[in-house]
Amino acid sequence: MKSSKKAVIIGAGVGGIATAIFLAQKGFSVEVYEKNSNPGGRCGQMLQDGHRFDLGATILLMPSLYRQVFAALGLDMDKELETTSLEPVYKLFFDDGPVFPFTRNPQQMKAQLEAFEPGSHAQYEHYIKEGYSFFHLAMNGLLGRNFNHLFQFFNFKNVLLLFKLKAGIKHTNYIQRFFKDPRLQKAFTFQNIYVGQNPYKQPAFFSMLPSAEIVEGALFPKGGMHQVVEKLLATATELGVQFLYKKPATQIITNGNRTEGIQLDDGTFIPADLVIANADLPYVYNQLLPDKSTARKLNKKEYSCSAIVFHWGLDKTYPQLDHHSIFLNEPYKKGMEKIFNEKSLSDNPSFYIHAPVRSDKTAAPANQDTLSIIVPAPQLNGKSDQDWQALKQIARKGVIRRLKKAGMTDIEEHIKFETCYMPKTWESYCNITNGSVFGSLSHTIFQMGYFRPKNRHSKYKNLYFVGGSTHPGNGIPLVLLSAKLTSERILKDTLK
Ligand SMILES: Cc1cc2nc3c(=O)[nH]c(=O)nc-3n(C[C@H](O)[C@H](O)[C@H](O)COP(=O)(O)OP(=O)(O)OC[C@H]3O[C@@H](n4cnc5c(N)ncnc54)[C@H](O)[C@@H]3O)c2cc1C
Repeated sequence: MKSSKKAVIIGAGVGGIATAIFLAQKGFSVEVYEKNSNPGGRCGQMLQDGHRFDLGATILLMPSLYRQVFAALGLDMDKELETTSLEPVYKLFFDDGPVFPFTRNPQQMKAQLEAFEPGSHAQYEHYIKEGYSFFHLAMNGLLGRNFNHLFQFFNFKNVLLLFKLKAGIKHTNYIQRFFKDPRLQKAFTFQNIYVGQNPYKQPAFFSMLPSAEIVEGALFPKGGMHQVVEKLLATATELGVQFLYKKPATQIITNGNRTEGIQLDDGTFIPADLVIANADLPYVYNQLLPDKSTARKLNKKEYSCSAIVFHWGLDKTYPQLDHHSIFLNEPYKKGMEKIFNEKSLSDNPSFYIHAPVRSDKTAAPANQDTLSIIVPAPQLNGKSDQDWQALKQIARKGVIRRLKKAGMTDIEEHIKFETCYMPKTWESYCNITNGSVFGSLSHTIFQMGYFRPKNRHSKYKNLYFVGGSTHPGNGIPLVLLSAKLTSERILKDTLK
């Protein structure tokens, strides 16, 4: 069955564009209003002097989820994107010297694990097998479906599921059952930071992240992660979706229990049969909707951490770095506490570097390098004193000191230009609440599944949400899944 309704989408992030395709394929006339001059949001791109940077997302994880959602969109991911499976997935640098390639090569992994801790290889195999089973269990029972009412979530099957997923055990406690070596404990838990979490606080089922990395690998699309946006955009445009840039929505117009459209910052009213907000959900409740009671409740929830991101164009390459390199620096636990409890940064912060030239020469001019350094940082917090200029300097100095220690002694002299995205930049660039770019709402057990804000407004029945801050969560694979789930709900509601 086809619809002749008009859908208006606020935001051309991955979530907004994928939803536009799902709806356009069902006959909806779709218009996407984006505040920025380019699509992609946190999966955007920056080009400067022959250097190409992915602004936010850089790792294509859980390729099975991309394939699943692309297939639902009628696309073959492996034909749309020219990908390389990275080996190793990344290089881990520990502060006390050794480099640990996070390899999918079983012999190499066995040799290096046994060198760190005799007997640890069998434990590793057990950890990965169990973690990957959590991935499937979570996708089938918790993340990959819409919940309409409490009893769909709270039933015997799901309580059993939470038990099986070890939802009551902290990841860093769980890992101690497998490894004694503190470096190995870190190597298989730091991945919580991908979703903006402190690994010392969040549940064991996030072992699904390193496990999926080992089982499914991490891909790199030629041209960078922004290619995901480009491919989806081309499909949407072919289907007649209209993208309107530099058009910030300032209000969602409501009447009774329905929305009638949106208002833009120049005062134009855009009528719609239904509105889908891809913009960050707490921002939408706070800034675009009239009733502030839900906004107040959302503001009290737990938010993910933020990131200070340095994009460097260099006139030299550094072979010490892999495509993805992760520096786990000491004191590591204290560093997490600084970010999450004190809303500050340690002098020797942990960080991640994306160096795409190693797999794709088009990312920089010949013999030059394009580096994006992501330093996990505290969220914006109006209550405590945060001196962001000082925190930026701490992060920059810490990164340079650590890179020098790893042999890149002249790196500072070879930076041709630098662009820095601070938490405030993320807040203003994409309207992300608290600059909490990995959520924005954190992925605690009580902010996931049924408890995550729903993808349809409870009062305005034709207002929907898509993206990282609604169900199922953040990260491109889950945002793609969110587009599928939100679209399924819309089609169920409108094509009756
Ligand atoms: C530093 C960093 C590293 C990351 N690394 C990874 C990674 O390696 N792998 C991964 O899978 N994910 C990663 N992520 C997460 C990933 O980028 C996000 O989950 C994803 O891009 C979010 O997509 P979205 O559609 O939900 O939201 P967004 O990308 O935020 O899109 C929302 C869009 O709405 C627009 N908008 C907001 N308000 C308005 C308004 N009033 N009017 C009009 N338009 C508006 C915004 O400008 C934006 O374009 C990373 C994110 C960051 C910041």
